[in-house]
Amino acid sequence: MELNHLRAWELKKLLESREVSSREVLESVLDRIKSDGKSINSFITLMEDGAQKAALKVDKKRSSGKKLGALAGIPVVVKDNICVKDNLCTCGSGILKNFIPPYDATAVELLKGEDAVIVGKTNMDEFGMGSSNENSYFGPVKNPYDLKRTPGGSSGGSAASLASDMSILALGSDTGGSVRLPASFCGVVGLKPTYGLVSRYGLVAFASSLDQVGCLTKDVKDCAMLLSAVAGYDQRDSTSINIVRKDYTKSWEDDLKDIKIGVPKEYFGGGLNKEVKENVLKGIEALEREGFKTLEVSMPGTDRSIAVYYVLCMAEASSNLARYDGARYGFRTKETFDLDLMYKKTRTKGFGDEVKRRIILGTYVLSKGYFKAYYQKAQKVRTIIKKDFDRAFEKVDFLITPTSPTTAFKLGEKIEDPLTMYLSDVYTTSANLTGIPAISLPCGKDSFGLPIGLQIMGKPLSEELLLKVAYTFEQNLKR
Ligand code: GLN
Repeated sequence: MELNHLRAWELKKLLESREVSSREVLESVLDRIKSDGKSINSFITLMEDGAQKAALKVDKKRSSGKKLGALAGIPVVVKDNICVKDNLCTCGSGILKNFIPPYDATAVELLKGEDAVIVGKTNMDEFGMGSSNENSYFGPVKNPYDLKRTPGGSSGGSAASLASDMSILALGSDTGGSVRLPASFCGVVGLKPTYGLVSRYGLVAFASSLDQVGCLTKDVKDCAMLLSAVAGYDQRDSTSINIVRKDYTKSWEDDLKDIKIGVPKEYFGGGLNKEVKENVLKGIEALEREGFKTLEVSMPGTDRSIAVYYVLCMAEASSNLARYDGARYGFRTKETFDLDLMYKKTRTKGFGDEVKRRIILGTYVLSKGYFKAYYQKAQKVRTIIKKDFDRAFEKVDFLITPTSPTTAFKLGEKIEDPLTMYLSDVYTTSANLTGIPAISLPCGKDSFGLPIGLQIMGKPLSEELLLKVAYTFEQNLKR
C-alpha cells in the first residue's frame, strides 16, 4: 500500500512507531502530485520547499524525543482563500494573483502548532463563488473520477486532491455548500462546522455571516482529527464561540440507540436525481438497521433557501469585495493615473464574470430603493427557515438528506446558466443560513461510477455526536 493512499489516523500510527518518516509520507504525496497534479489542476501553489523543511523538522523532533503535535508529519492542503504566511493567497482570482499574506490564518496556525505539513494551496472558484470550480482564474479543477466532469465547487481543489491521493487532509471553506458539494462529487467526507466553531481569521471574506472554514478528509476519523486541530475560540474573530476546546477523536463506540433522525420530505422532491434518491434512501435504511429511529419531518421553508442565500451572499460579497480597489491589495492596472478610472479598470480586469455579477446584484439589493424589498425580506425569510430547523430539532437529533440533487455534472454543462448552477446548492445552503453543522458522507455510486453524497445536519455545536453518527454510517456502508 502506498503511503499517500492511507488515512491520517493510519499514518499517525506508522509515524509514531517510526515505521515510516514524515519525509517518506511527504514524498509519496509529492510524487503523486508530480504525476497527475497538472491534469487535475487541483493546486494553485505547491509549497514543496516549505513542506520538505516542515517534514524534516518533524522527523528531527521525533528522533530527539521531543513532544509532537496531534498531526505530526501529516500532509495537509489548504484552500487558496485561507492565508498561509509568505505564500500566495489568490482566492482563485486575478485580482489577488500576486497577494502574499504576511500572516497565517488561525486555522493554519493551529495546524502548524500540531506539526502538520502544509503541502500547497488548492484551486477554487474565485472568492468561493461557484459550484463547479469553473470560475477560477487558474482554470477549472477536474474530477478524478472523470476528467471531463466537475469536482464540485468551490473547494474543488481540496476535494480533488484527496480523491486522487495528492493529500491526506484538506481545509476548505463553506459559505453555501462549498465543502460539502465537492466532498459529495469526489467521494470524500466534508464537514461544515457550526458557525463560529472554527475561527475565520485569515479566511478571505466572501459572505461573512455564512462563511465557515471546513474539513475535507478521506474518512470520518480523519475528519475528527482535523476538526480537533482547527476548532477553538479565537479573540481575533468576533464571531468565534467561546467554548472549551474538544478532542473529537475519542469514544467511537458509544451507544447511539436513542438517537432520532428526521428525514425532511421537502429534500426528496422534484429535481432530485433518481439514483441519488435511491442511494440516500438505502443509506437511511442502513442507519435504521443500526438501531436509529427515523421519522419524516416537514421543513416548508426549504424551497426558499436558494433565493434567500443568493440575495444575502451577494449583498455581503458586494460589501466585502469593495476593498479590492487596486490601492491596497493585489493587482492594480497600470493603464491610468486617474484615481476613479484606476478603480474601474482594476476591478474590471481583476474580477471574473461571476464575481462581477454578484457585486452588481449585491449592490442592487442593498441600494436605497430595493433594500427593503430584497435584503430585508431575505433576512426575514432566513429567520423563518431557522424556525423550521428549530421545530424539527425539537423532535429529532439530526436531519438526513442528499448533499446534492445530482452527481458530478460535465464541465461546461451549467456554466452558461447561472440559475441552474445555483440549484446545485439547494440542499446545502440552509445549514449556512442557520449556522448549524452539516457533514457530507460518501453513499455509494451511480451507474456512471460517480460518487453520491449523503448529508447529516445537527443542532449547533453537536459535532461530537454528529461525527459518531457519521462514523456508524460509514462503518455500516463498509459491511
Ligand atoms: N455554490 C455556492 C455559491 O456559489 C456556495 C459557495 C461557497 O460555499 N463558498 O455561492
